[in-house]
Amino acid sequence: MRKKWVFLICLILYLIGGFFWCNPWIVKEISGNYVSGEIPEILVNERGEKGDFSWNGHYALIRLEDVNPASDPTSLEECIELLKNKNVPFSIALIPIYKNPEQNETLYLHEKPELIRLIKDSGATIVLHGCTHQYDGETGVDFEFWDEISDGPLKVNNTEYATSKIELALEELEKCGLTAEIWETPHYTSTDEVAKVVSQYFSKIYEGYDGKLTINKFGQIVIPTNLDYVRGDQPVQSVFEMLAKGEYISSSGDKDIVASFFYHPFLGTDYLRMLIGGLKKQGYKFVGPEECIRVFYRQFEHAQ
Ligand SMILES: [Zn+2]
Repeated sequence: MRKKWVFLICLILYLIGGFFWCNPWIVKEISGNYVSGEIPEILVNERGEKGDFSWNGHYALIRLEDVNPASDPTSLEECIELLKNKNVPFSIALIPIYKNPEQNETLYLHEKPELIRLIKDSGATIVLHGCTHQYDGETGVDFEFWDEISDGPLKVNNTEYATSKIELALEELEKCGLTAEIWETPHYTSTDEVAKVVSQYFSKIYEGYDGKLTINKFGQIVIPTNLDYVRGDQPVQSVFEMLAKGEYISSSGDKDIVASFFYHPFLGTDYLRMLIGGLKKQGYKFVGPEECIRVFYRQFEHAQ
C-alpha cells in the first residue's frame, strides 16, 4: 500500500517538474512578477539580431484598450513603460470623451493634460475608439452605435448620428494636439450606415477576429484582434487560452496569420508581461498596426 503512495507522489512530482521543464518561461515570468519584482528579459531582442530568438515568421500586435479621460494614469503609465522596456510597438484605443449619465458626469480629454502627455510620449499609434463609447450608459461599457436592448440599430438617423459623433471626436482630438488614422467601433458593433460613414473618414479599421489582415466591402484595410483579450474575471485562464491560440498560429505555415490582442491597462502589468514573454518565446515579432499594414500592403495591391 505504502509503495503505491510513494509511486503516486513520484509520478505527480515528475509531471509537475516536466511541465515547468517544458515551459521555463512560466517560471521566469512568475519569479519576475512575484519574487524579484524585476521585469524578466526572456528574449531581449525580438528582432532576432542577437540572443536565442528564432522568428516563427508571424507578427503579433498589442492594443491598449478603452483609454479615456476617466482612465487611471498610473496603470496606463505602467503598461506603457513595460511595453517600451520590452521594445514592443503598440497602439492605444482612445475614447476622447467620457460620459456617465447616471452620475451626470462628462469628462473631456483636453481637461486631462497628464493623460495627453502620457499618450503623446508613449509613441503609440492612436486608434480612435468611438467618441464616447456609449449611447445612454457609461463609457466603455455601453455600445455607441447599437441598441443592445432591442439588439438592433439605434432608433435615430444613423448616418447623421455617426457623422456628428465622429466629427465631435476628431474635434476633441485636435484640441489635444492628437490625430488618429485608424478606427475601432465600440464593441465592434454597428450598422452598415454607420460603417459607411466611418469609411468616409478612415481607410483603416482595427476590429474583428479574422486571422489575417483583410479588405472589407467599404475598401478599408481591416486589422484583426484574433487572440481576443484578457477577461477581468478570469485573467489567468484568458492568458493561457491566448497563448494556446498563439502556439497554434505559430505552428501554421500560413505566415499571413497574425497573433493580435487588446489589453485593458486597469488590469495592471502582470498579465501583459506574461503575454509578451509567452509570445516572444513562441517566436513572434511585435509590430504596430501601421507597420503591419505596410508589411502586407503589397498583397493588397495585388488583390485589387
Ligand atoms: Zn471598447
